[in-house]
Formats: sequence, structure tokens, C-alpha cells
Amino acid sequence: MESSNPSDRRGEKYRKNNELIQSGAAEQFRKFIIESAKDFAIFTLDLNRRINSWSVGAQNICQYSEEEIIGQLGDILFIPEDQATNAAARETERAAREGSAKNERWHLRKDGSRFWGSGLTFPLQNENDTIIGFVKIMRDLTDQRRAEQELQETTERLRVTLESASDYSIITLDTEGNIEGWSKGAELSFGYKESEAVGNYGDIIFTREDREAHIPEMEMATAMREGIARDERWHRRKDGSRFYMSGTMRPIYNPQLAGFVKVARDMTEQKLTEQQKDEFIGIASHELKTPVTTIKAYIELLQDTMDESASRESNSILHKLGAQVDRLTGLIQTLLDTTRIAEGRLMLQSESFNMNELVKQQAEEFAQLTVRHNIIVQPGQIPQVWADRERITQVLTNLISNAIKYSPSGGDIIITTEVENDSVKTGVRDAGIGMSPDTNSKVFERFYRAGNAQVQTFPGMGLGLYIAAEIVKRHNGTIWVESELNKGSVFYFTIPLDIR
Ligand code: ADP
Repeated sequence: MESSNPSDRRGEKYRKNNELIQSGAAEQFRKFIIESAKDFAIFTLDLNRRINSWSVGAQNICQYSEEEIIGQLGDILFIPEDQATNAAARETERAAREGSAKNERWHLRKDGSRFWGSGLTFPLQNENDTIIGFVKIMRDLTDQRRAEQELQETTERLRVTLESASDYSIITLDTEGNIEGWSKGAELSFGYKESEAVGNYGDIIFTREDREAHIPEMEMATAMREGIARDERWHRRKDGSRFYMSGTMRPIYNPQLAGFVKVARDMTEQKLTEQQKDEFIGIASHELKTPVTTIKAYIELLQDTMDESASRESNSILHKLGAQVDRLTGLIQTLLDTTRIAEGRLMLQSESFNMNELVKQQAEEFAQLTVRHNIIVQPGQIPQVWADRERITQVLTNLISNAIKYSPSGGDIIITTEVENDSVKTGVRDAGIGMSPDTNSKVFERFYRAGNAQVQTFPGMGLGLYIAAEIVKRHNGTIWVESELNKGSVFYFTIPLDIR
């Protein structure tokens, strides 16, 4: 029935026009989608699952041309394993029953290769709502699937690695320092189960003193500043007992800071053994000191009381005896220094002095002891330094005696001084056996002696440079070596200028 209202009539006309436009547009739109969607395979199937339309995208993905595929069973796109279980039929049945069927599975291309297809199947109905076929829209997600599988594999491998590294505690923290990941090794070492640890602030593994001193926060700050924070300290278990751990902490960037990972190892046994060794060295050297001092005193007494009539031979023997006892005293002193360092009892008595004077004096003394070497001092223009003169003498004598010891064929030993930044840098160069580059950083470790056979023939305990390095460190200086095998070495150390 025509409406008498003009505006209603206008509305009716508009609706009709619009329907016309829409049906035309819909047709075009459908065509556009099917033709241009190169990444989507879109095709229709009849009720017998024979393909009756095929998009450009379907051609791209499945490699069949329209002529090749029209009329074929859609099942040929399924892999043999799925064909055997009638997966294609089950898919259309489900679509018919439920209105749509979602599917993710491996499919077959014409050349037999496989792709991961992610798709949806819908039933197509006529105006009586009778199902006349199906439309399937599918995307090739092989790359994503592979990436996903690789990620899964990597994650799994990482998980297994973490679990099997039971000697190591591997802990991940978020940017605030809260525990996010807790490995099997961490469970074993700290006694907290993963469920107990995760979510807690990372300081639960620290002793109270370290928590109060903000060590956990300092560790994160160092890791962020330097890319890594190395650490050796006593930690705390869930039951309150303590154990010694050595480890590293690194920041994780993604690309901003995403958290931290800490890898640590229980070193309690090694630490206790080391402490026992230190204790033994301490006791032994202390016990040795008294008799050796007494022997020295008796030798001096004998020398004083020996009259003119004593033979030159007796005098010489007594002199040699004295020299050997002096060596023994030196060795005991070295051992005592080692225990002092281990117990943090190395005291400094700093004063202002001139490094050039010290160097010249030492060079003269050593020149008396060697005929093969030429000890040359090349002093720079340097101001006074502020340091413990006796301890710095110890460093210098150690470097010069090593220079002599490790250059058995002789040659020049050159001692230099110069100002560098706020320090005086002293160098001791020899033309001796040198060291391989990997050894250079290790020589300052306790008891370290280079492994080359040559060194084994030189007497020593591997403590001199360790003590020298500790003394220099206590002065806030640095010590290092530049050396090459068979080409000689230069040891350098810096000590601060007197800036009072
Ligand atoms: P020691 O001389 O008693 O072995 P040190 O701590 O003084 O102990 O030195 C540690 C090691 O460093 C030595 O065993 C030697 O291998 C190496 N070393 C030290 N000085 C030199 C040098 N001038 N040339 C070559 N090697 C050296």
C-alpha cells in the first residue's frame, strides 16, 4: 500500500535504490575479496565436497590452477594421515551442524609439500535454508607455526637445561627485583620451592647484614651500569643456615630493561677448605716465626762472640747460615701477609714520599745482587705520593726480584715512573721468559704460577704478586702486566698522588 505521506514515499524510494546499490556492491565486494585476497585461500565445495570455485589466493597457496582443481574432491588438500581419518568430511559435517568449523592443521600443496593452514568452513544455504555447499577460507600460517614450534622447542630445551643444571641456581627477577623464575638448582640450594620463591623480593636469599647494606639493589645497579655484576658472598637458606655462593647477575633487555638473571653456584665447601688452608697457613707461619727469630738471634750472638782466631771458613758458614735464615724469615713474612689479607687485616700507614727516591734506592740494592742484569732507572717528573712506604717497597722489591728471577739470561731491567691522571705509574720491564696472554690476568691470583715448564724450575710460592696486587688495591691503585712469551714482561702499578 502506497503511503500518502511524501516523506515516507521518499524513504521508500531511497530504500529501494539502496538495496539495488547494495546488491551490486555486495557482488563487487565479494569478487574483490576473492580475487585480491592473495594471502587467503577461498573456495567453495558442493555437498559431495567437490570444489566448484577457487580464488587467486587458493591458487597461490595450494599451487593448483582453477582448471586443475574444479571438480576435484577437496580432500586432496588434506595430508594422508588426515585423509585416513576422514578429516575433510568431519570438517564439513561440523560446519553443517554448528554453523562453522574452525580448523588448524597441516595441508598439502600440489607439489606434495605441506603448509600450516588455519581456516574456517561455513555452510552455504539457499533461500529455503537448505545447505547446498560449503565455503572455506584458509590462511597459510606456516611461518608463524614454524616460529611457534621453534620457540616451543627453545623454551623446552631451556627448561630442561635449567632443570638439569642442578649445581647452579638460576633465578630471574623482574625490573623491580622480584623473583619471576626459580630453577631446580635454586630449590636445592636455597630450600625454597619455586612456588614459595616466585613473587618474593629477590633479597630473600641474602643475609640480614647484606640486606641492610642494600647489596641486592647495588647488584642490580652494577649489572645495569656494567652489563654484569660478579659476586661472591655468604647467602641465606630458607632454614636460616648460611652458604657461600659465587655468581653473576646480568640485565635482560627487550629492548628496554625487562629484568635480571642471576646464575650462582654453591661454593661453601671450597670456601671452607680455603678458610681451613688460611687458618693452617696462619698458625704454621706464626709457629715458625718464633724459632726462626731465635735462630737468627743465636747466629748474631755467635757472630759477635766469634774471636779473631775463628777460621775464615767458620765465618763464611755463619754468614751463609744468616742469609738462609733471612730467606726463611721472608717466606714466613709472605705467609703471614697472605693470612692478614684473607682476614682483612692488612693495615696501611700512609705518608708522603718521593717514588723516585724509593725506586733508585731499590735499584741500587738489587744491583748488588745480580751480575747478569743491568738495572736502569728512568725517573719521570713526579710529585710526592701518599702511600704506605714500607708496603710499596714490598711491591717494588717483588716486581724487581721477579724481573731478575724470570730473566735468567740477564738483560736490562728498566724501571720507569710517570704521572698518570691523579697517580704515579711505576713500570718494571724485563727481557725475560714472558708469559702467554691468557696468563696475564691470572698471575695476581693466590698461589698462581704460570704453567709453562720453565717456571717450574724457578723457586716460588705464587704469592708475591697476589700480595702486591692486594697492597696496590688497598691504595686504590691498579696493577697489571703487559707481556709476551719469550719477549719479556712489563709490570705496572699506580698509587695516588699526595693531594693534601
Ligand atoms: P712466584 O714468583 O713465587 O711464583 P709471584 O706471585 O711473584 O709468585 O708470580 C706469579 C707467577 O707469575 C710466577 O710463577 C710466574 O709464572 C709469573 N711471573 C711473575 N713475574 C714474571 C715475570 N717478570 N716474567 C714472567 N713471568 C712472571
